[in-house]
Amino acid sequence: LQVAQIDSKNMSDVVWSDLVLACDNALRDDAVAGVVITHGTDTLEETAWLLHRLLDTTKPVVLTCAMRPASSAAPDGPQNLRDAMAVVAAPGARGVLVVCAGEIHSAQQVQKIHPYRTNAFGSGDHGPLGWIEEGVVRLAQNWPPEQTQPALIAIKNIANGAPWPRVEIVMSYTGAQGDTVDALVRSGVQGLVAAA
Ligand code: ASP
Repeated sequence: LQVAQIDSKNMSDVVWSDLVLACDNALRDDAVAGVVITHGTDTLEETAWLLHRLLDTTKPVVLTCAMRPASSAAPDGPQNLRDAMAVVAAPGARGVLVVCAGEIHSAQQVQKIHPYRTNAFGSGDHGPLGWIEEGVVRLAQNWPPEQTQPALIAIKNIANGAPWPRVEIVMSYTGAQGDTVDALVRSGVQGLVAAA
């Protein structure tokens, strides 16, 4: 199923809505054991977090990506996709997971940490959940705990086409001025996140 074909830096609430509903729909089907999503790397961690917060499932949802174009001499996308299939089919796999460069990360921890390397993702101090070696999953930690509070109301709102609130992120740094906040509030922003 093709939900969208965009550069993920152009991710929008419309595409996210379509993706959440497509996943929710697929995961409710008894014939579906799990979902694999191919996604650009730029906003992959945000999509992973969104799905982690919203989907009410014990089945695995695995996002994967490519750092190199398909036209490169050694593209990484096909291997990543193959690895993602190994993870989604692994016994006990659950939660929203990210597979890149032979590593498995959980949606709760994953961050894009490099703009060029093929192993562009990391899980900070937590480290990867595990690895895929020759199609075999080797876990360093347990699969993520089951999601306890999926936001079912949010899925209903999305299905009903409710508009998403506008939330902006403001940076805190030496010499930062309040004018940015004033301008955003004047322009009708409904929430602010301070990135300190
Ligand atoms: N701009 C691309 C995207 O995130 C980069 C990539 O896929 O690595 O869609």
